[in-house]
Amino acid sequence: MVDTKTQETVREGAIYGQITALGHEQLVICYDEPTGLKAIIGIHNTVLGPALGGTRMWNYTSEEEAITDVLRLSRGMTFKAAISGLNLGGGKAVIIGDPKLKSEAFLRRFGRFVQSLGGKYITAEDVNMGTQDMEFIAMETKHVTGLPDVKGGGGDPSPVTAYGTYLGMKAAAKKAYGTDSLQGKKVAVQGIGQVGKYLVNHLIKEGAEVFITDIFEDKLQKIAKETGATVVDPKFIYDIDMDIYAPCALGATVNDETIDRLKCQVIAGAANNQLKDEEKHGKLLLDKGIIYAPDFLINAGGLINVYAEYLGGYNRDLAYQQADKIYDTCVSILDKSEKENIPAQQAAIETAWNRIQAMGKVKLSH
Ligand code: NAD
Repeated sequence: MVDTKTQETVREGAIYGQITALGHEQLVICYDEPTGLKAIIGIHNTVLGPALGGTRMWNYTSEEEAITDVLRLSRGMTFKAAISGLNLGGGKAVIIGDPKLKSEAFLRRFGRFVQSLGGKYITAEDVNMGTQDMEFIAMETKHVTGLPDVKGGGGDPSPVTAYGTYLGMKAAAKKAYGTDSLQGKKVAVQGIGQVGKYLVNHLIKEGAEVFITDIFEDKLQKIAKETGATVVDPKFIYDIDMDIYAPCALGATVNDETIDRLKCQVIAGAANNQLKDEEKHGKLLLDKGIIYAPDFLINAGGLINVYAEYLGGYNRDLAYQQADKIYDTCVSILDKSEKENIPAQQAAIETAWNRIQAMGKVKLSH
């Protein structure tokens, strides 16, 4: 007989509680003593295809934080692939620790863990992981994308991500202002890393007034000098006079504390999981009349790029053509949100789920 009380206790634990709530298929905990590698691979859903998602390396303050991150990120990948029309499932990996720990052995050991999953999970770059790291991983597994272009890969996916984010921002601007022109719009870009810096270039080119912030002062000064963007202290980014807030650093920056401070009409950025609490904060934005361009939809350019690589015979023009569709998809999601009076994130998730369910039935049919 099953002891339901014990089962309940287990279900309420940090891991099964979250997996049950978010609907994951598998969570893989990896450890390698000689290199000190501690990695967690989250496989959310593989109905549409193998779970593809980048590996993030971060100095998490606790294991719980890392697990929560990998679970939320891998779920986001499921929706991202589905809404972008890709035949991929959702997965993600996190490596716990200081990026300085990375070495050839460390990365190759991680590659072996990826290989052990037999193609169910395919990795790529994410925060603190670059194309060179992917090369080491590729020495141990073929289930890796984001290789340098000189090695036949798609190279750094960030420019395609930035392009898609820019298009999503334009689609959201169209909804908010009746025109998708960003000329003269005050846009605050939080985080000028790989994606943020390319996004700033698109915005400046279109004549937007761009404000930038980052935790690295030297980076800020360099980009400000190159582009003419105005530097803002990271502490004050939510308070400045802006039309559009573009989160391009880490997730959960749209929360109880920041929503009251943000005076913008549009939120559109590249960061994953921007809403700290998807339901609560999605609804708050809807009530406040702030147009929110769903993160997993508009930052899908990078996934689209690595998917092009995964299919073989990588062609950057084709990746950009596929990324072009982000504009129309974003317009239709924002229309659905308005028509049904539901948060845009919910409208996007529903659309993604509909595709997964429909394709799941196709796969089961004879
Ligand atoms: P990155 O590490 O190159 O850039 C992030 C930047 O944010 C860094 O410059 C960092 O210093 C800065 N930052 C960190 N904390 C900050 C804070 N509190 N305030 C201001 N700045 C801060 O990463 P990236 O590749 O540019 O990705 C940015 C975001 O977009 C991440 O959330 C990532 O998951 C997401 N994303 C990236 C891609 C891609 O193709 N690179 C694709 C999809 C989503």
